[in-house]
Amino acid sequence: SEIDSVLSKLLLATSNSAIDFDSIIDANHKAGLPAIDVSPLQGKLLQLLVQISAAKRVLEIGTLGGYSTAWMATGLPEGGRVTTVEVNATHAGVAASNLKEAGLADRVTLRLGQAAKILDEMINDDVDPFDFVFIDADKPSGVTYFEAAMKLTRPGSVVVCDNVVRSGQILDLETDDPDVIGTQQLLRRIADEPRVCATAIQTVGQKGHDGFAIVRVNS
Ligand code: SAM
Repeated sequence: SEIDSVLSKLLLATSNSAIDFDSIIDANHKAGLPAIDVSPLQGKLLQLLVQISAAKRVLEIGTLGGYSTAWMATGLPEGGRVTTVEVNATHAGVAASNLKEAGLADRVTLRLGQAAKILDEMINDDVDPFDFVFIDADKPSGVTYFEAAMKLTRPGSVVVCDNVVRSGQILDLETDDPDVIGTQQLLRRIADEPRVCATAIQTVGQKGHDGFAIVRVNS
């Protein structure tokens, strides 16, 4: 929308970053990737949330071309790292090229494969807890990813889930859309989890009417 474009121009000027985020979107388009990255204002929100939570270890589930990865990587302090998981080799290849071009390759570990399998491996390997997790892959697997995130975080960690409003379709309890059903199951699972507190914010703009769930792990 026009308002979103104006806000993006005004607010993204405060990025304090040398990264040309638009060039990542252009490269994705040229490579034929679907335009399902977060919006610029959502990217900025992710960057801010990483900074506000002082996260050093970030986990992303669903890389695409690395657009949200780049926003989060630029919110990290010195020595911070994003581990991002992607199943599609073409998407991962474009992301690797974009992140290298942006000078962010040394802050990002890109893992190619099925997220559920890679997350299980991380749990079995007892990796250090992540401070911040962004869940943005296949929506029917949302509960699986949230449950893995609970095992891969610590009290005080933040988990953000994308696409929880879906143009209001989230309210349709009769839906047969697997993405909506997966998101409804995810929100119920978060609501039933006693170890977290959570909210959802709606976003309206260039990417339509959608939203983020924001979760704090309490214990
Ligand atoms: N976070 C990205 C951004 O904002 O720039 C957008 C991610 S896109 C919405 C979802 C990505 O998840 C796609 O690239 C897709 O290939 C990937 N994906 C889907 N199913 C997956 C799975 N089972 N394991 C890992 N990645 C998966």
